[in-house]
Amino acid sequence: MTTVKHTGLFKWERSDVLRYKEKGNHFKDITRQLLYPGHPELPVQMRYFEIAPGGHSTLERHQHVHMVMVIRGSGEVLVGDEIQKLESFDLVEIPPKTWHQFRATAGETFGFLCLVRVDRDRPELPNTDELARLKEDPGISGFIRYEEPLMTAGAGGVKH
Ligand code: MN
Repeated sequence: MTTVKHTGLFKWERSDVLRYKEKGNHFKDITRQLLYPGHPELPVQMRYFEIAPGGHSTLERHQHVHMVMVIRGSGEVLVGDEIQKLESFDLVEIPPKTWHQFRATAGETFGFLCLVRVDRDRPELPNTDELARLKEDPGISGFIRYEEPLMTAGAGGVKH
């Protein structure tokens, strides 16, 4: 395989439009295509994520780095304690162990390429204390989207 043809509007051949993650309610209206699965000499994957208007990715952090290039529409991203507007062809790096969440701008479909290493750690979701600390910043508090039931570690919490 040397080429993967773009077959239509943000759709590539041999790349099924997949669920973003297996389960959870910590994300909304987002799909994933695996465009490049990696090679032993280039152990990275290129994915295309698409967030429908009003949707968002998971608020998470992990050791592995994301390199993202927006190629459709516009949106916003939280990286650490900064919220940044992103438009097509902007690039953003998500550094290790940094909270991040992507959102589509209202009324717009937001699509981006995301490069990651093949061998990577699993994302971590914020616990109650971490979420409270993030929300101390009013800007961040107004930005993040999170469903409470899935994040509880305490008694009665739902474990996933
Ligand atoms: Mn991530």
